[in-house]
Order: sequence, then C-alpha cells, then structure tokens
Amino acid sequence: MAECGVCFRHCRIPEGQLGFCGARIAHNGRSEAYNYGRITSLGLDPIEKKPLARFYPGGRILSAGSFGCNLRCPFCQNYEISWSVQAGAFAQTAETVSPEELADIALAARKRGNIGVAFTYNEPLVGYEFVRDTARLVKAEGMKNVMVTNGTAELAIWEELAPYIDAMNIDLKGFTDDYYRKVLGGDRRQVMDFIEAAVKTCHVELTTLIVPGENDSEEEMRALSDWVSRLKEPDGDDVPLHVSRFFPRFHMRDRQATDVRTIYHLADVARENLEYVYTGNC
Ligand code: SF4
Repeated sequence: MAECGVCFRHCRIPEGQLGFCGARIAHNGRSEAYNYGRITSLGLDPIEKKPLARFYPGGRILSAGSFGCNLRCPFCQNYEISWSVQAGAFAQTAETVSPEELADIALAARKRGNIGVAFTYNEPLVGYEFVRDTARLVKAEGMKNVMVTNGTAELAIWEELAPYIDAMNIDLKGFTDDYYRKVLGGDRRQVMDFIEAAVKTCHVELTTLIVPGENDSEEEMRALSDWVSRLKEPDGDDVPLHVSRFFPRFHMRDRQATDVRTIYHLADVARENLEYVYTGNC
C-alpha cells in the first residue's frame, strides 16, 4: 500500500494498482508516475492557444500531453486522455518518450519558431516527475517551460517544479467550494494556495470556464476577480484572466453553450478589478 502525496486526495493505493487519477501507481510501497514519458499528444501550437496572452506573444511552443487527471469535470474537452474509458486505453498504448528525446524535439523545432515545451492536454501535475526531468533539460538549452494545469497539487510538488517553469495557465474554474467539490471533484483551497505560490516565481495567467447555471453570476465573477486582483506578478503587474465559453461535451450535454453576451458581460465585470481580461472560445 502506498499513500500518494501529490494532491489533496492522498490516495491510499494497493501495491500494483493505480490511484484515482489513473496516472500514478503503487510500486514498492511508493506512489510513482505510471504515465512517465507516455506521450499521447504532441504538436507545435501558437502560445496564445494555451492560452497565454502576455508571454512571448506570436511564439509557438511544442505541446506535449500524457494521460490521467485528478479532477472529474463532467464537461472535459480532453476526456479521451484525462478520465474516461479511452484514457484507460491510452495507458496501455501510449508511446514512451524520454526527457532527452522530448528536449531534442523541442530544440529541433526552434527554427520553426518554437520557444520551448508546454506540458498540457491532460493534467501535468499528476506526472510531475516527467515535467521536472524534461523541463530541467529544456531550460539548460535556454528554452522556456510552460504548464497548463488545474493547480491541484500540494505545494511541495510545485516547489520541485518551480526552478524550471517559466509560465503557467492555471484554471480557477469557479469561486465556490461547492462547485469545486460537487461538480468538479476538486478542492478550491488547494488551487488558490497553488496560484498564490506560483505567482511569486513565474508568469501566471488564469482561466475561468463559465458554465451556465453553475458559475455564471456577476457576484461570483466579482468575488473571483477581486481575489485575483490581490495577486501581483513580481513586477507588480496584474495577473491576466481568461473568461472562457463552455460547450456541451462528454457528460455535460444537458445545457447549451454559454451565451457569448454572458462571456462579454462577465469579462466587463472582471475588468472592474483587473487590467488584463481576455475572452475565450467566443
Ligand atoms: S495525484 Fe493521483 S494518485 Fe496521487 S493523490 Fe492525487 S489522484 Fe490520488
């Protein structure tokens, strides 16, 4: 039996079995990354697609994903590799790439405008050892490392990664504990702690996906953006917020896509508190 200390769930995993995220396995009484180097998606994306609006705009970044996730968002856009029957299948068939190989691919793509590696698509923190080992090599080559994450990990995990990560987009999916707990299977406090620690050492942008009937009130956006406004980048600048549109997907098909007018309105509400607010998926 191993107790995993990566996220708030602290799964107790019987030897040889997987934790809740499907990415970590108990081996010799320890929790290890079962998805280490197991790449399910790889592509050279515009940096704005992460989304990052204020980090090397116009650049491109080699984006790599594995499988597994420690949340259970019913509307997941990447459910094939995050949490689903298909994600379990990827666990059997995903190709294995070493940190050295991925860093070499990133370096070779430099002439096509690549600035580094983005760990994205599935939740990178559940396989943080591969992120750490690869990011160290990428940084040594003078390139950049980005994570696109739900921010659901203990601070000790972030401390291992912090020396190598240059920028992150972190989901702040809503601003009530109920929504995090009951709809997403998450822990809002852990995400807020993670964000507060991250802004001290790297460039951070946040994303809030607006789901009709769940987190689309003015009051919630006002409270969320007020909290974000108290976070400052090391140079004193505001943390950018992306307000993004939901589309019915996966297990949440009981409602329409978010009305574009709602996104624009909530972005205006956020602008009462923040300087950099962007709309997404509109
Ligand atoms: S990272 Fe995965 S195995 Fe570890 S506590 Fe979280 S859900 Fe459980």
